[in-house]
Amino acid sequence: MALKGDLLIVGGGASGMLAALGARDTLRNLHIPDDAFTIILLERNARQGAKLRISGGGKCNVTHEGESGELLLKGFFDKAERRFLKHSFFSFTNSDLCSLLDRYGVKTAARPDGKVFPVSERAADVLKAFEAMLLDAGINMISSCRASALKRDSEQFTVDSSRGQFNSSALILAVGGVSYATTGTTGDGLAFARKFGHSVIDPSPALAPVVTKKVPPADLVGVSLRSVTLFVSVSHERVERRGDVLITHRGLTGPAVLSLSRQIAKFALQHRAAELYVDLFPAHTSTELQELFLQHARKNGTQMVRKFLQSAPIAPPSGSFAIFPYGTIPTALVPFIMRHAALEPDVRWSELKKDERKSLLDVLKRFPMGTVKSVPLDEGEVSAGGIALKEVNPKTMESRLVPGLYCCGELLDYAGEIGGFNLQAAFSTGWTAGRNAAERLAGGKHPNAGSSHLR
Ligand SMILES: Cc1cc2nc3c(=O)[nH]c(=O)nc-3n(C[C@H](O)[C@H](O)[C@H](O)COP(=O)(O)OP(=O)(O)OC[C@H]3O[C@@H](n4cnc5c(N)ncnc54)[C@H](O)[C@@H]3O)c2cc1C
Repeated sequence: MALKGDLLIVGGGASGMLAALGARDTLRNLHIPDDAFTIILLERNARQGAKLRISGGGKCNVTHEGESGELLLKGFFDKAERRFLKHSFFSFTNSDLCSLLDRYGVKTAARPDGKVFPVSERAADVLKAFEAMLLDAGINMISSCRASALKRDSEQFTVDSSRGQFNSSALILAVGGVSYATTGTTGDGLAFARKFGHSVIDPSPALAPVVTKKVPPADLVGVSLRSVTLFVSVSHERVERRGDVLITHRGLTGPAVLSLSRQIAKFALQHRAAELYVDLFPAHTSTELQELFLQHARKNGTQMVRKFLQSAPIAPPSGSFAIFPYGTIPTALVPFIMRHAALEPDVRWSELKKDERKSLLDVLKRFPMGTVKSVPLDEGEVSAGGIALKEVNPKTMESRLVPGLYCCGELLDYAGEIGGFNLQAAFSTGWTAGRNAAERLAGGKHPNAGSSHLR
Protein backbone atom coordinates (compact mmCIF):
# COMPACT_ATOMS: atom_id res chain seq x y z
CA MET A 1 0.00 0.00 0.00
CA ALA A 2 1.24 3.48 -0.82
CA LEU A 3 2.27 5.80 2.02
CA LYS A 4 0.48 9.12 1.74
CA GLY A 5 2.01 12.46 2.66
CA ASP A 6 0.75 15.96 2.11
CA LEU A 7 4.16 17.09 0.97
CA LEU A 8 6.85 14.79 -0.36
CA ILE A 9 10.44 15.95 -0.74
CA VAL A 10 12.84 13.81 -2.75
CA GLY A 11 16.49 14.36 -1.77
CA GLY A 12 17.78 14.98 1.73
CA GLY A 13 20.69 17.30 0.98
CA ALA A 14 21.05 20.98 1.86
CA SER A 15 18.10 22.09 -0.26
CA GLY A 16 15.78 19.19 0.68
CA MET A 17 16.34 19.61 4.42
CA LEU A 18 15.66 23.35 4.22
CA ALA A 19 12.58 22.71 2.07
CA ALA A 20 11.19 20.50 4.85
CA LEU A 21 12.04 23.08 7.52
CA GLY A 22 10.66 25.97 5.46
CA ALA A 23 7.41 24.08 4.91
CA ARG A 24 6.92 23.24 8.60
CA ASP A 25 7.79 26.77 9.67
CA THR A 26 5.14 28.15 7.33
CA LEU A 27 2.51 25.69 8.53
CA ARG A 28 3.21 26.47 12.17
CA ASN A 29 2.84 30.15 11.32
CA LEU A 30 -0.56 29.31 9.93
CA HIS A 31 -1.39 27.45 13.19
CA ILE A 32 -1.74 24.16 11.37
CA PRO A 33 -0.83 21.35 13.79
CA ASP A 34 2.04 19.09 12.78
CA ASP A 35 -0.13 15.97 12.85
CA ALA A 36 -2.58 17.55 10.42
CA PHE A 37 0.05 17.85 7.73
CA THR A 38 2.59 15.13 6.90
CA ILE A 39 5.92 16.10 5.40
CA ILE A 40 7.99 13.19 4.11
CA LEU A 41 11.67 13.56 3.22
CA LEU A 42 13.07 10.73 1.08
CA GLU A 43 16.83 10.19 0.91
CA ARG A 44 18.58 7.42 -0.97
CA ASN A 45 21.56 7.31 1.41
CA ALA A 46 21.39 5.89 4.92
CA ARG A 47 21.76 9.43 6.23
CA GLN A 48 20.87 12.91 4.98
CA GLY A 49 23.42 15.50 3.90
CA ALA A 50 26.31 13.42 2.50
CA LYS A 51 27.63 16.35 0.47
CA LEU A 52 27.16 18.83 3.28
CA ARG A 53 29.30 16.59 5.46
CA ILE A 54 32.28 16.80 3.07
CA SER A 55 31.76 20.45 2.22
CA GLY A 56 34.63 22.87 2.66
CA GLY A 57 37.05 20.00 3.25
CA GLY A 58 34.92 18.82 6.19
CA LYS A 59 34.78 22.32 7.70
CA CYS A 60 31.69 23.42 5.77
CA ASN A 61 31.76 26.90 4.34
CA VAL A 62 28.04 27.36 5.02
CA THR A 63 27.58 30.79 3.49
CA HIS A 64 29.27 34.13 2.75
CA GLU A 65 29.01 37.32 4.74
CA GLY A 66 27.40 40.46 3.36
CA GLU A 67 24.06 41.71 2.19
CA SER A 68 22.13 39.44 -0.20
CA GLY A 69 22.63 41.60 -3.30
CA GLU A 70 26.37 41.62 -2.67
CA LEU A 71 26.40 37.83 -2.28
CA LEU A 72 24.68 37.40 -5.61
CA LEU A 73 27.19 39.67 -7.37
CA LYS A 74 30.19 37.96 -5.81
CA GLY A 75 28.93 34.41 -6.10
CA PHE A 76 27.17 34.25 -9.46
CA PHE A 77 28.79 35.71 -12.56
CA ASP A 78 25.85 34.88 -14.81
CA LYS A 79 23.19 37.59 -14.87
CA ALA A 80 20.30 35.21 -15.54
CA GLU A 81 21.31 33.09 -12.54
CA ARG A 82 21.49 36.16 -10.31
CA ARG A 83 18.08 37.30 -11.47
CA PHE A 84 16.63 33.87 -10.79
CA LEU A 85 18.15 33.52 -7.31
CA LYS A 86 17.42 37.05 -6.13
CA HIS A 87 14.04 36.45 -4.55
CA SER A 88 15.12 33.39 -2.57
CA PHE A 89 18.38 35.00 -1.45
CA PHE A 90 16.36 37.86 0.02
CA SER A 91 13.66 35.54 1.44
CA PHE A 92 16.08 33.31 3.30
CA THR A 93 19.31 35.17 3.90
CA ASN A 94 22.75 34.26 5.24
CA SER A 95 21.71 35.83 8.60
CA ASP A 96 18.57 33.69 8.66
CA LEU A 97 20.78 30.65 8.18
CA CYS A 98 23.27 31.67 10.86
CA SER A 99 20.54 32.43 13.42
CA LEU A 100 18.89 29.10 12.69
CA LEU A 101 22.21 27.30 13.28
CA ASP A 102 22.88 29.42 16.35
CA ARG A 103 19.55 28.35 17.88
CA TYR A 104 20.77 24.77 17.59
CA GLY A 105 24.13 25.49 19.17
CA VAL A 106 26.25 26.04 16.07
CA LYS A 107 28.02 29.39 16.21
CA THR A 108 29.36 30.67 12.92
CA ALA A 109 32.03 33.23 12.08
CA ALA A 110 33.22 34.98 8.95
CA ARG A 111 36.85 34.82 7.87
CA PRO A 112 38.59 37.92 6.52
CA ASP A 113 37.79 36.77 2.96
CA GLY A 114 34.05 36.70 3.79
CA LYS A 115 33.63 32.92 3.93
CA VAL A 116 31.44 31.85 6.85
CA PHE A 117 32.23 28.61 8.72
CA PRO A 118 30.99 27.03 11.94
CA VAL A 119 33.33 28.17 14.72
CA SER A 120 34.03 24.48 15.48
CA GLU A 121 35.07 24.06 11.80
CA ARG A 122 33.16 20.79 11.77
CA ALA A 123 30.67 20.11 8.99
CA ALA A 124 29.39 17.26 11.16
CA ASP A 125 28.13 19.81 13.72
CA VAL A 126 26.16 21.61 11.02
CA LEU A 127 24.62 18.36 9.86
CA LYS A 128 23.74 17.32 13.42
CA ALA A 129 22.01 20.67 13.94
CA PHE A 130 19.91 20.20 10.80
CA GLU A 131 19.00 16.67 11.87
CA ALA A 132 17.85 18.01 15.25
CA MET A 133 15.79 20.70 13.51
CA LEU A 134 14.14 18.10 11.26
CA LEU A 135 13.23 16.00 14.29
CA ASP A 136 11.81 19.02 16.12
CA ALA A 137 9.85 19.94 13.00
CA GLY A 138 8.23 16.49 12.97
CA ILE A 139 9.50 15.61 9.51
CA ASN A 140 9.01 11.99 8.51
CA MET A 141 12.53 11.10 7.36
CA ILE A 142 12.79 7.99 5.25
CA SER A 143 16.35 7.08 4.38
CA SER A 144 17.94 4.36 2.22
CA CYS A 145 15.05 5.09 -0.11
CA ARG A 146 15.81 5.84 -3.74
CA ALA A 147 13.04 7.33 -5.83
CA SER A 148 12.91 5.59 -9.21
CA ALA A 149 9.83 6.88 -11.01
CA LEU A 150 7.65 9.92 -10.52
CA LYS A 151 4.31 10.83 -12.05
CA ARG A 152 1.36 13.13 -11.54
CA ASP A 153 -2.23 12.26 -12.23
CA SER A 154 -5.50 13.68 -11.01
CA GLU A 155 -3.94 16.27 -8.69
CA GLN A 156 -1.73 13.70 -7.02
CA PHE A 157 1.93 12.79 -7.31
CA THR A 158 3.05 9.18 -7.16
CA VAL A 159 6.64 8.25 -6.40
CA ASP A 160 7.93 4.71 -6.83
CA SER A 161 10.96 3.98 -4.72
CA SER A 162 13.18 1.23 -3.41
CA ARG A 163 10.98 1.27 -0.28
CA GLY A 164 7.59 1.24 -1.92
CA GLN A 165 5.18 3.77 -3.29
CA PHE A 166 4.40 7.25 -1.95
CA ASN A 167 1.60 9.65 -2.80
CA SER A 168 1.38 13.34 -2.11
CA SER A 169 -0.44 16.50 -3.10
CA ALA A 170 2.77 18.45 -3.67
CA LEU A 171 6.26 17.30 -4.58
CA ILE A 172 9.62 18.98 -4.13
CA LEU A 173 12.54 17.75 -6.21
CA ALA A 174 15.78 18.39 -4.32
CA VAL A 175 18.05 15.70 -5.70
CA GLY A 176 21.11 17.85 -6.44
CA GLY A 177 23.49 17.92 -9.40
CA VAL A 178 25.64 15.21 -10.94
CA SER A 179 29.14 15.59 -9.51
CA TYR A 180 30.62 13.53 -6.65
CA ALA A 181 28.27 10.71 -7.63
CA THR A 182 29.39 8.67 -4.61
CA THR A 183 27.45 11.10 -2.40
CA GLY A 184 24.21 10.02 -4.10
CA THR A 185 23.98 12.57 -6.89
CA THR A 186 23.89 10.41 -9.99
CA GLY A 187 21.61 12.68 -12.01
CA ASP A 188 18.28 10.96 -11.25
CA GLY A 189 16.64 14.38 -11.05
CA LEU A 190 17.41 15.20 -14.66
CA ALA A 191 15.48 12.14 -15.85
CA PHE A 192 12.61 13.00 -13.46
CA ALA A 193 12.52 16.58 -14.75
CA ARG A 194 12.49 15.45 -18.39
CA LYS A 195 9.67 13.05 -17.60
CA PHE A 196 7.63 16.01 -16.35
CA GLY A 197 8.31 17.79 -19.66
CA HIS A 198 11.04 20.13 -18.38
CA SER A 199 13.97 21.20 -20.56
CA VAL A 200 17.29 20.18 -19.10
CA ILE A 201 20.52 22.00 -19.90
CA ASP A 202 23.15 19.26 -20.23
CA PRO A 203 25.30 19.02 -17.10
CA SER A 204 28.83 20.32 -17.40
CA PRO A 205 31.71 20.66 -14.94
CA ALA A 206 32.12 23.61 -12.59
CA LEU A 207 34.50 24.27 -9.69
CA ALA A 208 36.55 21.35 -11.00
CA PRO A 209 40.29 20.75 -11.47
CA VAL A 210 41.75 20.70 -14.98
CA VAL A 211 43.65 17.76 -16.45
CA THR A 212 46.28 18.68 -19.04
CA LYS A 213 47.28 16.59 -22.07
CA LYS A 214 50.92 16.44 -20.98
CA VAL A 215 51.38 15.98 -17.25
CA PRO A 216 53.27 18.89 -15.63
CA PRO A 217 57.03 18.36 -15.13
CA ALA A 218 57.78 16.66 -11.80
CA ASP A 219 59.76 19.73 -10.62
CA LEU A 220 56.62 21.85 -10.84
CA VAL A 221 54.18 19.52 -9.09
CA GLY A 222 53.01 21.15 -5.86
CA VAL A 223 54.10 24.64 -6.94
CA SER A 224 51.59 27.35 -6.10
CA LEU A 225 51.34 30.57 -8.11
CA ARG A 226 49.78 33.29 -5.97
CA SER A 227 47.28 35.79 -7.32
CA VAL A 228 48.21 35.33 -10.97
CA THR A 229 45.79 35.62 -13.87
CA LEU A 230 44.95 32.27 -15.41
CA PHE A 231 43.60 32.44 -18.92
CA VAL A 232 42.59 30.28 -21.84
CA SER A 233 42.95 31.71 -25.21
CA VAL A 234 41.98 30.46 -28.65
CA SER A 235 42.45 32.83 -31.59
CA HIS A 236 40.82 36.09 -30.40
CA GLU A 237 38.72 34.59 -27.62
CA ARG A 238 40.03 34.74 -24.07
CA VAL A 239 38.54 33.98 -20.67
CA GLU A 240 40.46 34.66 -17.49
CA ARG A 241 40.36 34.59 -13.71
CA ARG A 242 42.66 36.17 -11.12
CA GLY A 243 43.66 34.03 -8.14
CA ASP A 244 45.92 31.24 -6.94
CA VAL A 245 46.86 28.35 -9.24
CA LEU A 246 48.26 25.08 -7.93
CA ILE A 247 50.17 22.69 -10.21
CA THR A 248 49.26 19.02 -9.64
CA HIS A 249 50.54 15.74 -11.03
CA ARG A 250 47.61 15.73 -13.50
CA GLY A 251 47.28 19.41 -14.35
CA LEU A 252 45.98 22.38 -12.40
CA THR A 253 43.77 23.19 -9.46
CA GLY A 254 43.38 26.07 -6.97
CA PRO A 255 40.80 28.86 -6.67
CA ALA A 256 41.44 30.50 -10.07
CA VAL A 257 41.30 27.13 -11.84
CA LEU A 258 38.12 25.97 -10.08
CA SER A 259 36.43 29.28 -10.74
CA LEU A 260 37.34 29.31 -14.44
CA SER A 261 36.74 25.57 -14.96
CA ARG A 262 33.19 26.01 -16.23
CA GLN A 263 34.42 28.25 -19.05
CA ILE A 264 37.55 26.15 -19.64
CA ALA A 265 35.31 23.10 -20.15
CA LYS A 266 33.23 25.05 -22.69
CA PHE A 267 36.38 26.16 -24.54
CA ALA A 268 37.72 22.61 -24.58
CA LEU A 269 34.45 21.40 -26.09
CA GLN A 270 34.44 24.08 -28.77
CA HIS A 271 38.13 24.02 -29.70
CA ARG A 272 40.44 21.08 -30.21
CA ALA A 273 43.37 22.75 -28.49
CA ALA A 274 42.47 25.01 -25.58
CA GLU A 275 45.79 26.31 -24.22
CA LEU A 276 46.15 27.47 -20.62
CA TYR A 277 48.44 30.34 -19.63
CA VAL A 278 49.23 32.38 -16.56
CA ASP A 279 50.16 36.02 -16.42
CA LEU A 280 52.70 36.39 -13.59
CA PHE A 281 52.45 40.20 -13.65
CA PRO A 282 48.71 40.76 -14.06
CA ALA A 283 48.73 44.33 -12.72
CA HIS A 284 51.21 45.48 -15.41
CA THR A 285 50.64 46.00 -19.10
CA SER A 286 53.43 44.71 -21.33
CA THR A 287 54.52 48.30 -21.95
CA GLU A 288 54.76 49.07 -18.21
CA LEU A 289 56.69 45.87 -17.59
CA GLN A 290 59.08 46.63 -20.44
CA GLU A 291 59.77 50.05 -18.94
CA LEU A 292 60.41 48.51 -15.48
CA PHE A 293 62.80 45.98 -17.02
CA LEU A 294 64.73 48.73 -18.80
CA GLN A 295 65.04 50.71 -15.56
CA HIS A 296 66.11 47.58 -13.69
CA ALA A 297 68.65 46.59 -16.38
CA ARG A 298 70.19 50.09 -16.31
CA LYS A 299 70.76 49.87 -12.54
CA ASN A 300 71.62 46.16 -12.31
CA GLY A 301 73.44 45.35 -15.53
CA THR A 302 75.72 42.70 -13.99
CA GLN A 303 72.87 40.81 -12.28
CA MET A 304 71.97 37.47 -13.81
CA VAL A 305 68.39 37.47 -15.09
CA ARG A 306 67.73 34.18 -13.34
CA LYS A 307 68.87 35.67 -10.01
CA PHE A 308 66.44 38.52 -10.53
CA LEU A 309 63.60 36.10 -11.30
CA GLN A 310 64.37 34.05 -8.18
CA SER A 311 63.74 37.08 -6.00
CA ALA A 312 61.18 38.82 -8.20
CA PRO A 313 57.72 39.38 -6.73
CA ILE A 314 54.80 37.43 -8.11
CA ALA A 315 51.81 39.53 -9.15
CA PRO A 316 53.25 42.81 -7.79
CA PRO A 317 51.09 45.93 -7.70
CA SER A 318 51.12 48.13 -10.78
CA GLY A 319 54.19 50.29 -11.35
CA SER A 320 56.72 48.50 -9.15
CA PHE A 321 58.50 45.27 -8.29
CA ALA A 322 57.49 45.58 -4.62
CA ILE A 323 56.92 42.24 -2.88
CA PHE A 324 53.40 42.68 -1.61
CA PRO A 325 51.63 40.56 -0.51
CA TYR A 326 52.10 37.34 -2.47
CA GLY A 327 55.83 36.53 -2.17
CA THR A 328 58.17 35.77 -5.04
CA ILE A 329 58.02 33.80 -8.26
CA PRO A 330 58.59 30.17 -7.13
CA THR A 331 62.24 29.19 -7.62
CA ALA A 332 61.21 25.93 -9.32
CA LEU A 333 59.52 27.93 -12.07
CA VAL A 334 62.57 30.04 -12.95
CA PRO A 335 64.44 27.48 -15.15
CA PHE A 336 61.21 26.96 -17.09
CA ILE A 337 60.78 30.69 -17.62
CA MET A 338 64.39 30.93 -18.88
CA ARG A 339 63.91 27.94 -21.20
CA HIS A 340 60.59 29.16 -22.64
CA ALA A 341 62.14 32.58 -23.26
CA ALA A 342 65.12 30.84 -24.94
CA LEU A 343 67.63 32.60 -22.65
CA GLU A 344 71.04 31.24 -21.67
CA PRO A 345 70.89 30.18 -17.98
CA ASP A 346 73.58 32.67 -16.89
CA VAL A 347 72.71 35.61 -19.09
CA ARG A 348 73.04 39.06 -17.40
CA TRP A 349 70.73 42.05 -17.85
CA SER A 350 73.43 43.99 -19.71
CA GLU A 351 73.84 41.11 -22.20
CA LEU A 352 70.14 40.83 -23.03
CA LYS A 353 69.30 41.79 -26.59
CA LYS A 354 66.08 43.68 -27.30
CA ASP A 355 64.33 40.61 -28.75
CA GLU A 356 65.45 38.53 -25.74
CA ARG A 357 64.00 41.10 -23.35
CA LYS A 358 60.80 41.00 -25.36
CA SER A 359 60.76 37.22 -25.23
CA LEU A 360 61.23 37.22 -21.43
CA LEU A 361 58.42 39.70 -21.07
CA ASP A 362 56.11 37.62 -23.30
CA VAL A 363 56.77 34.51 -21.22
CA LEU A 364 56.10 36.31 -17.93
CA LYS A 365 52.82 37.68 -19.30
CA ARG A 366 51.89 34.38 -20.99
CA PHE A 367 53.54 31.44 -19.26
CA PRO A 368 52.23 28.22 -20.88
CA MET A 369 50.52 25.79 -18.49
CA GLY A 370 49.56 23.09 -21.01
CA THR A 371 46.69 22.06 -23.24
CA VAL A 372 43.38 21.09 -21.65
CA LYS A 373 42.71 17.36 -21.80
CA SER A 374 39.59 17.31 -19.67
CA VAL A 375 37.68 18.97 -16.85
CA PRO A 376 36.24 15.97 -14.97
CA LEU A 377 32.53 16.45 -14.33
CA ASP A 378 32.47 14.16 -11.30
CA GLU A 379 35.30 16.04 -9.58
CA GLY A 380 33.53 19.39 -9.58
CA GLU A 381 32.30 20.80 -6.27
CA VAL A 382 29.16 21.50 -8.23
CA SER A 383 27.86 20.79 -11.70
CA ALA A 384 26.52 23.41 -14.08
CA GLY A 385 23.40 22.70 -16.15
CA GLY A 386 20.13 21.25 -14.91
CA ILE A 387 16.49 22.29 -15.12
CA ALA A 388 16.06 25.40 -17.31
CA LEU A 389 15.54 28.39 -15.03
CA LYS A 390 12.90 29.95 -17.26
CA GLU A 391 10.61 26.98 -16.56
CA VAL A 392 10.63 27.55 -12.78
CA ASN A 393 8.99 30.49 -10.99
CA PRO A 394 11.84 32.25 -9.11
CA LYS A 395 9.45 33.60 -6.47
CA THR A 396 8.10 30.20 -5.45
CA MET A 397 10.37 27.57 -7.08
CA GLU A 398 7.20 26.02 -8.52
CA SER A 399 7.43 24.46 -11.95
CA ARG A 400 5.78 26.59 -14.62
CA LEU A 401 4.77 23.38 -16.36
CA VAL A 402 3.47 21.14 -13.57
CA PRO A 403 1.38 22.74 -10.80
CA GLY A 404 2.35 21.47 -7.36
CA LEU A 405 5.84 20.42 -8.45
CA TYR A 406 8.71 22.44 -6.93
CA CYS A 407 12.41 22.25 -7.78
CA CYS A 408 15.32 23.56 -5.75
CA GLY A 409 19.07 23.38 -5.21
CA GLU A 410 21.78 22.27 -7.56
CA LEU A 411 19.29 20.42 -9.76
CA LEU A 412 18.52 23.84 -11.23
CA ASP A 413 20.67 25.35 -13.97
CA TYR A 414 22.91 27.55 -11.82
CA ALA A 415 26.42 27.14 -10.43
CA GLY A 416 28.05 29.55 -8.00
CA GLU A 417 31.60 30.40 -7.12
CA ILE A 418 33.61 29.00 -4.22
CA GLY A 419 32.92 30.82 -0.95
CA GLY A 420 29.71 29.42 0.53
CA PHE A 421 27.51 30.64 -2.33
CA ASN A 422 26.37 27.20 -3.47
CA LEU A 423 25.21 26.08 -0.06
CA GLN A 424 23.45 29.41 0.48
CA ALA A 425 21.72 28.94 -2.90
CA ALA A 426 20.64 25.42 -1.91
CA PHE A 427 19.37 26.65 1.50
CA SER A 428 17.58 29.68 0.05
CA THR A 429 15.91 27.92 -2.89
CA GLY A 430 15.03 24.97 -0.63
CA TRP A 431 13.42 27.20 1.98
CA THR A 432 11.51 29.09 -0.73
CA ALA A 433 10.23 25.86 -2.28
CA GLY A 434 9.14 24.44 1.08
CA ARG A 435 7.44 27.60 2.19
CA ASN A 436 5.50 28.04 -1.05
CA ALA A 437 4.53 24.39 -1.34
CA ALA A 438 3.13 24.56 2.22
CA GLU A 439 1.29 27.79 1.53
CA ARG A 440 -0.21 26.35 -1.63
CA LEU A 441 -1.39 23.24 0.18
CA ALA A 442 -2.67 25.22 3.14
CA GLY A 443 -4.94 27.09 0.78
CA GLY A 444 -3.14 30.26 -0.16
CA LYS A 445 -1.42 33.04 1.65
CA HIS A 446 -2.07 33.66 5.31
CA PRO A 447 -1.82 37.14 6.87
CA ASN A 448 0.80 35.89 9.34
CA ALA A 449 2.92 34.09 6.76
CA GLY A 450 5.68 36.71 6.95
CA SER A 451 6.71 36.00 10.55
CA SER A 452 8.60 32.90 11.42
CA HIS A 453 8.91 30.46 14.33
CA LEU A 454 12.22 28.96 13.30
CA ARG A 455 14.06 32.12 12.44
C1 LIG B 1 33.72 18.21 -2.09
C2 LIG B 1 32.70 19.31 -2.06
C3 LIG B 1 32.90 20.41 -1.24
C4 LIG B 1 31.97 21.44 -1.22
N1 LIG B 1 32.17 22.50 -0.39
C5 LIG B 1 31.26 23.50 -0.37
C6 LIG B 1 31.40 24.57 0.56
O1 LIG B 1 32.26 24.55 1.45
N2 LIG B 1 30.50 25.60 0.48
C7 LIG B 1 29.49 25.62 -0.44
O2 LIG B 1 28.73 26.58 -0.48
N3 LIG B 1 29.31 24.58 -1.28
C8 LIG B 1 30.15 23.52 -1.25
N4 LIG B 1 29.94 22.47 -2.09
C9 LIG B 1 28.73 22.46 -2.94
C10 LIG B 1 27.48 22.14 -2.10
O3 LIG B 1 27.77 21.05 -1.23
C11 LIG B 1 26.30 21.78 -3.00
O4 LIG B 1 26.10 22.81 -3.94
C12 LIG B 1 25.03 21.58 -2.19
O5 LIG B 1 25.17 20.52 -1.28
C13 LIG B 1 23.85 21.27 -3.12
O6 LIG B 1 22.73 20.98 -2.32
P1 LIG B 1 21.52 20.17 -2.96
O7 LIG B 1 20.55 19.94 -1.87
O8 LIG B 1 21.04 20.80 -4.19
O9 LIG B 1 22.16 18.78 -3.40
P2 LIG B 1 22.83 17.67 -2.49
O10 LIG B 1 23.36 18.23 -1.24
O11 LIG B 1 23.76 16.95 -3.38
O12 LIG B 1 21.61 16.75 -2.08
C14 LIG B 1 20.90 15.95 -2.98
C15 LIG B 1 20.43 14.71 -2.24
O13 LIG B 1 19.51 13.99 -3.04
C16 LIG B 1 19.74 12.60 -2.86
N5 LIG B 1 19.19 11.90 -4.01
C17 LIG B 1 19.64 11.92 -5.30
N6 LIG B 1 18.86 11.14 -6.07
C18 LIG B 1 17.91 10.61 -5.28
C19 LIG B 1 16.83 9.73 -5.50
N7 LIG B 1 16.56 9.23 -6.71
N8 LIG B 1 16.03 9.39 -4.46
C20 LIG B 1 16.28 9.86 -3.19
N9 LIG B 1 17.29 10.71 -2.94
C21 LIG B 1 18.10 11.09 -3.97
C22 LIG B 1 21.25 12.50 -2.74
O14 LIG B 1 21.63 11.30 -2.11
C23 LIG B 1 21.60 13.75 -1.95
O15 LIG B 1 21.66 13.49 -0.57
C24 LIG B 1 30.83 21.39 -2.08
C25 LIG B 1 30.63 20.27 -2.89
C26 LIG B 1 31.54 19.24 -2.87
C27 LIG B 1 31.28 18.03 -3.73
